[in-house]
Amino acid sequence: MSTESLVSRARAICEQNGARFTAIREKVFRLMAENQGGQGAYDLLEQLKQTEPAAKPATIYRALEFLTEQGFIHKIESSNAFMLCHHFEKHHPAQLLICDACGNVTELHSTALHTEFSKQAAALGFHIHHQTIEARGKCRNCIGN
Ligand SMILES: [Zn+2]
Ligand SMILES: [Zn+2]
Repeated sequence: MSTESLVSRARAICEQNGARFTAIREKVFRLMAENQGGQGAYDLLEQLKQTEPAAKPATIYRALEFLTEQGFIHKIESSNAFMLCHHFEKHHPAQLLICDACGNVTELHSTALHTEFSKQAAALGFHIHHQTIEARGKCRNCIGN
């Protein structure tokens, strides 16, 4: 999917939500769209500084917070990184498959997994407010390499 089409879809959603897709937010979004795997906040900051020399860690954290609120990105908890979601029009359960060899991240959208997890938690009287399911391994392209 091209960066331009992702950007225009994101802009449409911001308009719908009455949220401001500022130049900085859009730049961070573009940086993420151009990279397949997860990216850490400081990697993003280094890249952003090439066009926004005054950018500070807080600049990135605020942008990431905004993009998370809009549902545009997922956090990869196990590596403290962020990735762009390509299905952000709809709220969806996401399980992440993370390739340790190339860093590529694939999303699964299993409602069954999500529901089962919640059901088992509820049976124990546990209330989930944030759920992450991540698996690490090797992707199809990396197996055998
Ligand atoms: Zn997603
Ligand atoms: Zn791989």
